[in-house]
Amino acid sequence: MENIMYKSTRGRGGELMASQAILRGLSPDGGLYVPDRLPRFDFTMAEAAKFDYCELSYRVMRQLLTDFTEEELRAACLGAYDSKFDTENIVEMRRAAGAYYLELFHGKTIAFKDMALSILPRLMTAAARKNGVEEEIVILTATSGDTGKAALAGFADVPGTRIIVFYPKGSVSRVQELQMVTERGKNTSVVGVRGNFDDAQSGVKAIFSDAELGETMRRAGFRFSSANSINIGRLVPQIVYYVWAYSRLLGGGVLGDGEPMNVAVPTGNFGNILAAHYAGRMGVPIGKLICASNDNRVLTDFFESGVYNKNRPFYTTSSPSMDILVSSNLERLIYELTGEDEAKNGAYMRGLSELGTYTIDGGERAGLSGFYGGSADESEVAEEIARVWKSDGYVIDTHTAVASRVYAKYREATGDTTPTVIASTASPYKFARSVLSAIDEKYAPMDDFELIDELERISGVKIPPAVSELRSAPVVHTRVMEKTGMRAAVEEILGLG
Ligand SMILES: *Cc1c(COP(=O)(O)O)cnc(C)c1O
Repeated sequence: MENIMYKSTRGRGGELMASQAILRGLSPDGGLYVPDRLPRFDFTMAEAAKFDYCELSYRVMRQLLTDFTEEELRAACLGAYDSKFDTENIVEMRRAAGAYYLELFHGKTIAFKDMALSILPRLMTAAARKNGVEEEIVILTATSGDTGKAALAGFADVPGTRIIVFYPKGSVSRVQELQMVTERGKNTSVVGVRGNFDDAQSGVKAIFSDAELGETMRRAGFRFSSANSINIGRLVPQIVYYVWAYSRLLGGGVLGDGEPMNVAVPTGNFGNILAAHYAGRMGVPIGKLICASNDNRVLTDFFESGVYNKNRPFYTTSSPSMDILVSSNLERLIYELTGEDEAKNGAYMRGLSELGTYTIDGGERAGLSGFYGGSADESEVAEEIARVWKSDGYVIDTHTAVASRVYAKYREATGDTTPTVIASTASPYKFARSVLSAIDEKYAPMDDFELIDELERISGVKIPPAVSELRSAPVVHTRVMEKTGMRAAVEEILGLG
């Protein structure tokens, strides 16, 4: 097989092998690494229906991460997709309220981030070995709530790595915060930032591109990498479950060979839906990709008008992992829409960082025809949780509910009855307060752990260990910083100068 090479969306990141792109995370020119081509799957969807999750993930990864050996990739997926997941299938699909809910939250931290973050540390340590990296790898991560814990769990006590997580203090759920600040891995640090997710994310990007700090790091024997979805090593494992979903619908007779499925994705940083788009380009028959936003509907407006404009109020919502105004991975799609024109993409991204906005041209907009953007506000999200619960006794979380509601609107507006998969990105246990208040207002006065018991009672789904262990876990991380203090926090944690 010919190697797939990775290049930056801004043109000055070199030509890297997959393992090198994974080690770097972000390109030094500020761009994101993308594969130089997307091959067609070398198996049919009917064949995929017979693969178990690990086999399928190996078959997908080998076509994109071409400089890894078969042994490395198989070891990575066997180590990642094991009994840390509470279902042997690794993911599940549940039919309810006229859609197929693809449950991606059966991993250790009960959010879909586990799908990629349980395998990324294995890919990264294999990559370090192949490339003779001797420095300790420092994973810097900004989180809107779920990436943080999933990355901490994935990298905890992995030799040769340290991880520092920044989260927006005060805008994550109680369970999300407890999950992070009780993390015990000896190589882990968790820092609350007084600001929102975008502040944390741009702080991390600034640290990455700080040449002076990079030099100090190198002398001290460290190098940075990223566990955010800007890392191609996260995106590739996310392609797998869209193939899985299609092949199961095919195997179950819901779809005939070649018939399309739609996919609705609750979107924040645009990583998950981009993986679906890549799955489509590699051969999964996809009708529409429904990009769902909450009140922070910057992407909805973009799909409607071709104008990306982050100059707008930032809303804190019940779906905090989607409270984002700068969706980093959209850059990979923009680059594709420009016909891989790094100068044009670079100009748009400069517009975004300098003015907070850019407008794509008519030809580029035409390239968006496979997408539908829509949003659901807070009351619609609550209504949707109640509707799905009443119709099938099925409890969905707030993020999933955003996608579910936007899909319902799409279906009503278009009459499109194509079978639709809704990416179910978190367990309702992570957001028990919002979920139960949507179902009945009598829950309002209960405390968080009473709500969790109540959720078990009404849903019949056992409380996951990820939640029950929080009742007694000691808080070990208490650092809180101004957003201007992020670099100093990193220096202090690593004991630099
Ligand atoms: C991260 C996250 C999202 C957003 O996914 P992106 O890949 O950033 O678009 C949606 N829902 C949940 C629960 C998440 O944790």
